[in-house]
Amino acid sequence: MHLALATLIVLVVGDFTSTFFYHVPQHLWFTLHLRTHHDRKRSYWDHAVISRSPEVLLDGFLGAVPYLVIAAFVWQISWPGALLGLALGQLHVWWRHTTEIGWRTPAWMRAIARPLQIVLPEDHDGHHRNPDIEFGDIFRFYDAPARALIAKLAPTSRRVRNAALRRSKRAPVRA
Ligand SMILES: [Zn+2]
Ligand SMILES: [Zn+2]
Repeated sequence: MHLALATLIVLVVGDFTSTFFYHVPQHLWFTLHLRTHHDRKRSYWDHAVISRSPEVLLDGFLGAVPYLVIAAFVWQISWPGALLGLALGQLHVWWRHTTEIGWRTPAWMRAIARPLQIVLPEDHDGHHRNPDIEFGDIFRFYDAPARALIAKLAPTSRRVRNAALRRSKRAPVRA
């Protein structure tokens, strides 16, 4: 019981923390994740799973830190559960990037995953095709609040600031 609880907390709270404290801020204000995880010049199977480039590894590590922090918190509840949560989280990273090497989720698996809101490789593929959709690494219920937060903070984003900068360069404001 404790084991299952600790595992679940690592996955559910870890995904929450990683989504809202790493993934969303990266999409809004930074470039590391966009330059690595969303680098369209490379296969994402390669850069999410195989690549050993320091930048790619750093993005993966920073995204994993929230899970590690949550695992440390639930260590007291059940340390095997905390480790199992981390292991399942890592397996999910590999699995959700397999669309590119030909994975197709069978119907029975989809039937189990849908009500549990688990991100399928096909769902995560959507995030690679369009970085503005399909947030939540493991659970799809984080997608709507993540998008809402991004929309709310959009005026502060790099994208909007850079666009404003380009506009002001084209038409200099006279004093
Ligand atoms: Zn990915
Ligand atoms: Zn992303």
